[in-house]
Amino acid sequence: MAATVLDGNRISAEIRAEVAEEVKSLAQAGIRPGLAVVLVGHNPASEIYVRQKVKACEELGIHSEKLTPAETISTERLLELVQELNQRDEIDGILVQLPLPAQVDSKRVLMAVDPAKDVDGFHPMNVGFLSTQRPGLVPCTPAGMMEILRRSGIPISGQEAVVAGRSDIVGKPVAMLLLNANATVTVCHSKTRDLAGVCRRADILVAAIGRAGMITGDFVKPGATVIDVGMNKVTEPGEFKRLFAGNAKREETFRSKGSVLVGDVHPEVAQVAGALTPVPGGVGPLTIAMLMSNTVRAAKLRRASRMAELSRV
Ligand code: NDP
Repeated sequence: MAATVLDGNRISAEIRAEVAEEVKSLAQAGIRPGLAVVLVGHNPASEIYVRQKVKACEELGIHSEKLTPAETISTERLLELVQELNQRDEIDGILVQLPLPAQVDSKRVLMAVDPAKDVDGFHPMNVGFLSTQRPGLVPCTPAGMMEILRRSGIPISGQEAVVAGRSDIVGKPVAMLLLNANATVTVCHSKTRDLAGVCRRADILVAAIGRAGMITGDFVKPGATVIDVGMNKVTEPGEFKRLFAGNAKREETFRSKGSVLVGDVHPEVAQVAGALTPVPGGVGPLTIAMLMSNTVRAAKLRRASRMAELSRV
């Protein structure tokens, strides 16, 4: 039997509607959450992502600002820009779109973002909050993955979870969130022995490796829930055939566009898994929904802590 498809677009729409409601109720208290997005240079993929983020803000009533420094900006100048945003009261969230140009020290720039405005959740302070289960800001894609599991009624506590990938922005926070939700978590990476064997133990398997269709049916325990975080562009005809031979819709896309978007999970997994997120339309749409949610959360946390400070004076 084919796996249940976990519809990321539906869950994302649900979260956006909830965020829009929160924005409305904050407006009654005279608060309008604000997001600043810093886009350096003209990376075409980054330009698309930033456009989507600004549009989402407009749709939900969140104030947004796009800053577009030149490709040639220095680390020092970018640090100054971040400091200016840190100090502006109407800005609750700051997102520096990655990747940054080679001459910029990305780690220094991300460290400079005020942790209270770090809506990407990449600052070591927020990483620490997550690992010690304190209130903070959680990276958007991992947070979105958890929303898919929770809102689809998939049990987490006590389950075997395997995370393939250990990056700071996806694999590690995913593992920490699953651990905090009481799963028994194993994290795999490029040096893992018998990756397929380890993955086959999973009740919940999260693929975040960045290799098109690498997770084949033999990596998956029958009935498992598989979350495919991968987003890979396939342009090579042989590779396309390995993944989608006989799939008329995908063949049409490949013919007309010359490429298709593929996850890390091979389509044959749909015949083994119990539930599966598609690519596109799975985890992807949640990333922006969670960014919106984080911006509102940042507004509430920052203003609440300021009110608490005032009440102590
Ligand atoms: P990284 O390249 O930073 O990390 C990849 C991880 O996978 C590393 O830990 C690496 O191991 C591991 N890995 C690579 N090859 C293998 C292999 N053959 N066997 C086992 N492990 C392997 O990628 P990201 O975490 O940034 O992204 C992962 C995927 O998620 C990408 O496809 C990316 O496009 C997608 N993504 C999707 C988002 C969304 O909104 N849906 C958002 C962010 C990312 P090691 O550490 O040993 O090198």
